[in-house]
Amino acid sequence: MRWSQAYIPTLRDDPANAEAASHRLLQRAGFIRQLSAGHYSMLPLGQRVRRKIDRIIRQEIDGIGGQQFHLPAMHPAELWKKSGRWEIMGEEMFRLVDRKGSDNALGMTHEEVFAELASEISSYKQLPQLWYQIQTKFRDEPRPKSGVLRVREFTMKDSYSLDLTWEGLDEQFDRHHGAYQRIFERFGLEAVDVEASSGAMGGSDSVEFMVRSDAGEDWIVTCPTCDYRANLERATSQVPDVSDPASVPEPQQFATPEIRTIAALADAFPDIAAPDRQIKTLVYMLDGTFTLVLMRGDHALQEQKLQDLTGAVDVRAAQADEIRQRLGALPGSLGAVGVTDHPIIADEALKDRRGLVTGANEDDWHLSNVDVARDIAVGEWADLREVQERERCIVDGGTLDLWKGIEVGHIFKLGTKYSEAMGAIVQDEHGESKPIVMGSYGIGLERSMAAVVEASHDDGGIIWPWEVTPFHVVITLLRQQDEAVVEAGDRLYEELTDAGYEVLLDDRAERPGVKFADAELIGVPYRVTIGPRGLESGVAEFTTRSTMETTEIPLEAVAAHLP
Ligand code: ATP
Ligand code: MG
Repeated sequence: MRWSQAYIPTLRDDPANAEAASHRLLQRAGFIRQLSAGHYSMLPLGQRVRRKIDRIIRQEIDGIGGQQFHLPAMHPAELWKKSGRWEIMGEEMFRLVDRKGSDNALGMTHEEVFAELASEISSYKQLPQLWYQIQTKFRDEPRPKSGVLRVREFTMKDSYSLDLTWEGLDEQFDRHHGAYQRIFERFGLEAVDVEASSGAMGGSDSVEFMVRSDAGEDWIVTCPTCDYRANLERATSQVPDVSDPASVPEPQQFATPEIRTIAALADAFPDIAAPDRQIKTLVYMLDGTFTLVLMRGDHALQEQKLQDLTGAVDVRAAQADEIRQRLGALPGSLGAVGVTDHPIIADEALKDRRGLVTGANEDDWHLSNVDVARDIAVGEWADLREVQERERCIVDGGTLDLWKGIEVGHIFKLGTKYSEAMGAIVQDEHGESKPIVMGSYGIGLERSMAAVVEASHDDGGIIWPWEVTPFHVVITLLRQQDEAVVEAGDRLYEELTDAGYEVLLDDRAERPGVKFADAELIGVPYRVTIGPRGLESGVAEFTTRSTMETTEIPLEAVAAHLP
């Protein structure tokens, strides 16, 4: 491709409000343009990268036996009602009504449609299957941001495994795990596989692939001395024991005027109310059910854990008036002692604790001497605590790290939820009916592209890894009016193109400085600069983008210097 004829609209300045490096650079380097919040056009350079990502994914998923489909992006509401997700997906699902008055959804994911297709399978002999597609997804994200990292319309490779047994699912899951590692390695990404929450998908095992980056929206907990790696939404850690008295008298009410926080109570009553001797009483509406959630005073609730535990779709903190009406006090003086008409969920760190302090459900009053087992009607115990940096690993006691990551891929064991809902039932070898055991596996294409840029750029621009670069090499002509230069450039262009390289020939009538800066910005891994002076002795400059090192090499040796 000749640069003079290519559409590569590079910009001098960063776009407004673009903080993420990938957003700034993909926009400035002419790879993407925003149509509206969360909707981006891929310009020719962006599309070249996207196609390579697409091809690598297809090669690796085909390599584990995948068969490519292409499903509709718009689905009838009935399908989503069958699985129960018409309600569950809430505002994140785009919905529209057609001229006949029927409800439709724009697909956020395709478990329902694939399970519906799988309902045509009747015998175990037709299993296992591995089905996939590379298709547009629509999600009305609350906060589209960071260029193509979080958008409302994006391309996903989504695959679905179909097996007769859970053992079969385990095998397909492991094969996917391997394929994902190869895919991200070929993208040039260091993607770490971490334990994850399954969220609204349902299912059991769930692993996310995370790329370390401050532009990420997930927090990851890792142990430096063992294999423990988990999303913060799921992570646990050791909780050192606190020693309590062997027995305590009845709870006793004491006045705490104006005291509303854990810290203030600890300051005012240091002998009895250190934060780890307090019960923090949080109040939530879980699908409309008023629920008390108890944490140790110095521990934070991880909301996703609460959501995973209860399966609640609509999770929100209760409002002051709702709380006052049911408990008789306002936040700051709340507690669960004596509460019997609302569900109480407590974090495991409170189990068997004695001599604690909690709110008395009367403004400006607290209770001391609380024995959790004796005084509180806990309905459910669970791990709800959010891990903090530098806590100890539950596996080997190592000091935990906490870092931000971009989720580029996610694999889950779905089980039989969707096959049961859609009637994907087969006869096993004994003629018994069994729901198909499913797995589901996703990778975001544009987010992967952006993650590559986050992981691989410098002040001058993008540095594309070899397998996903839009071009392998740019030939920059100095003095494009010099005939010998033009001829040498054309010759090299043809030689490299014939050898299978993708070459961009910068024949624009621009100053060398502009050409160099543009080549650096768009991030092509190698630049060959041809000018009249070098030509006299048959050499060109060879610049490696990642290091910006330049050497002189004979023109005929250029191909040998490329990977
Ligand atoms: P997130 O927690 O970031 O919203 P998710 O858990 O909703 O992601 P999945 O439903 O597992 O994501 O989708 C699979 C993959 O699709 C993700 O790993 C990611 O690469 C991509 N993806 C999901 N949502 C978006 C989005 N809004 N914009 C771009 N890519 C996305
Ligand atoms: Mg999401």
